[in-house]
Amino acid sequence: MSCIFCKIIAKEIPAEIIYEDEDILAFRDINPLAPVHVLVVPKRHVESINDLKEKDAELVGKMIIIAKKIATDLQTSQNGYKLLFRTGEWGGQEVPHIHLHLIGGARLAEEIHPA
Ligand code: 5GP
Ligand code: ZN
Repeated sequence: MSCIFCKIIAKEIPAEIIYEDEDILAFRDINPLAPVHVLVVPKRHVESINDLKEKDAELVGKMIIIAKKIATDLQTSQNGYKLLFRTGEWGGQEVPHIHLHLIGGARLAEEIHPA
């Protein structure tokens, strides 16, 4: 197993865990882009949005609901925040284990443009 997020899920490497249940682990990003930067990750290894099946709809919905709960717990829901799935090379995905970024705690610049 070489996947870094699978290793975090297996507690083989440390992370600052914010939330855990039987399906999902959420932990702080090691290189935060904002005061709140949490990654919401399914425990089952799925590479990217491109690999999702119809049957995964409930899991992905749960990821969003958990991100919302964490945003509330970390006091960033009132002012707003960003949820982001990067997908594949052009989407800038670096870790090939699907993850939802929760980014907040500051006013965020709009930065989506072709490289
Ligand atoms: P991506 O670019 O794939 O959407 O985002 C991957 C994110 O994972 C990056 O923001 C990066 O900082 C974070 N990351 C990479 N390796 C680790 C790690 O070992 N621990 C934690 N907590 N975050 C990581
Ligand atoms: Zn993995």
